[in-house]
Amino acid sequence: MPPEMKVPAGSGRGPDARSAHGLSIKTMVPTECDTRTSRATNRTLTQSPFNDTAVTYHMRGWHPFPLWDREAPDGLQARGKKNPPAGVTGREGVNATREQIEGWRDSGRSFNIGSRMPENVIVIDIDAYHGGLETIDELESKLGSLPGTFFVCHRGDGSAHRYYRVPGKRVWKNPGKGVDILHWGWRYAVMPPSIHPDTSQAYTWYGANGSKIANQAGPRIDQLPMLPKAWRDYLDTGKDPNAKAAKVDLASVEVRELLTAWASYDGPCPHMMDALREALATTTGGRHDVCMRAQMKIIRYGEAGHSGAGTAMKALRSWFFDALGKDRDPSSEWVRGFTNATQRIAASPTPEDRKGCMEVVVLPPLDVIVIGGQA
Ligand SMILES: [Zn+2]
Repeated sequence: MPPEMKVPAGSGRGPDARSAHGLSIKTMVPTECDTRTSRATNRTLTQSPFNDTAVTYHMRGWHPFPLWDREAPDGLQARGKKNPPAGVTGREGVNATREQIEGWRDSGRSFNIGSRMPENVIVIDIDAYHGGLETIDELESKLGSLPGTFFVCHRGDGSAHRYYRVPGKRVWKNPGKGVDILHWGWRYAVMPPSIHPDTSQAYTWYGANGSKIANQAGPRIDQLPMLPKAWRDYLDTGKDPNAKAAKVDLASVEVRELLTAWASYDGPCPHMMDALREALATTTGGRHDVCMRAQMKIIRYGEAGHSGAGTAMKALRSWFFDALGKDRDPSSEWVRGFTNATQRIAASPTPEDRKGCMEVVVLPPLDVIVIGGQA
């Protein structure tokens, strides 16, 4: 336990300074972060937090994507904190690429910004309204004080996102009332300088000393302090992070029915095109793995309401069969691939509020990528 240390209000607290037990979180929240006093604070609100900061975030090791709210009235959609693009979050998620990020940025639209957590970062999401500060107090008395770190807040009640580095890819648990642990496989964080839809306050980064940091596109991952070992041991579920995803055991007729429901034969949306292009551009490594990955993505996009999954599967099939057909019959691999993908996707359906496509880039002509004649 750190020694008791009186910290006068308003004094500078360095990154290594620790306040007395139980005060560390509450006293960390600077008055500027308090919406009860900060209404008059002159804060520059950006029209599109994503467009202004996403590439910088990405260069610093984060996995940013746009957030919006399709239910919000026109003009306010860009202040939403929902609707991340399909496939870039969760256990089965694949981190957005620099090209995808630039595509969203250059789409001519405005968005808030979110990020999936890197595998070696967790966020301690403290919700003061639901008892999070009390939960943290209890945990600190058991596990020791949390070190000062970069944190984000947008409300004035002590709620905050506190960022810590952790060793590698683990599955973390939520420790109690009002405290969630955001990690690579679960949820995502709304990042500064996003605008909160209800309060119109900007999410804001603060440093360990409680002052707003100059660059609101976040710290680099290696600038975050390591979560202390007692906390890591306590929060680690011990579950295998690479455990195979759950599957629903489906008969082949059920697989076909689901695919028919999910896969449309209209023009593929930009996401679908990305998944397909990624496979077709692969010239190294086994085509089998590339094909299985692409099937998973395409079917997931289809299930999530993106257009053209059927068209994309047809093109992928031609590519796979043309490449392998001379050496071996790829039919059973092909069928096993989409059966496996369908069973896994059926086991974790896309939530309704995340369904649908954000059409953000102009489609190239289809004949650029559809190769091979037969289906
Ligand atoms: Zn789409």
